[in-house]
Amino acid sequence: MDKILISQEQIKQRIKELGVQINRDYQGKELVVVGVLTGAFMFTADLLREIKVPIERLEFISISSYGHSTESSGNIRVYLDLKKDIENKHVLLIEDIVDTGLTIHHLMELFEGRKPATIKLASLLYKPSREKYKINIDYLGFTIDNHFVYGYGLDLFGKCRQIPHIAIYSGDIKE
Ligand code: 5GP
Repeated sequence: MDKILISQEQIKQRIKELGVQINRDYQGKELVVVGVLTGAFMFTADLLREIKVPIERLEFISISSYGHSTESSGNIRVYLDLKKDIENKHVLLIEDIVDTGLTIHHLMELFEGRKPATIKLASLLYKPSREKYKINIDYLGFTIDNHFVYGYGLDLFGKCRQIPHIAIYSGDIKE
């Protein structure tokens, strides 16, 4: 069995702390929350339960990053876009993991062009050793070493998203 890197209890506790920060930072404001599919679906659902400020709407965006390999493909494609515009809105983007930073770099560029009032990023995980693009993560769950991880929404070759903790894949990684 693969090793557990972050337990269900640790995730729950950290999300509570992030919720406190978000509630403090957005006092008196209304949020548009955008979850990045598919990996961030579980984190988005749990983080939302800790957000007490009004949420005007929740949307999801689907972009490509990884195919069947565990290395980034090098470009992104939008498969599912937002239903409504975000001009003058306070946008909170929720991502599962910032690895090289490429995906979020392009997504931030795309979103900034749509002129939101503010845009902030929450990411459950961050792998600094893999960084190619400097990304400012406003609400970060955990910094991790260079492992390929899965569970809690993140996939292992399309599978295992339902596992309630974050596990380290111990098999071979195709470069
Ligand atoms: P980046 O563009 O930052 O290199 O990659 C971001 C995306 O790659 C994430 O949204 C996620 O889908 C995928 N990714 C990066 N590292 C991992 C990992 O360790 N496990 C899984 N399952 N996906 C990862």
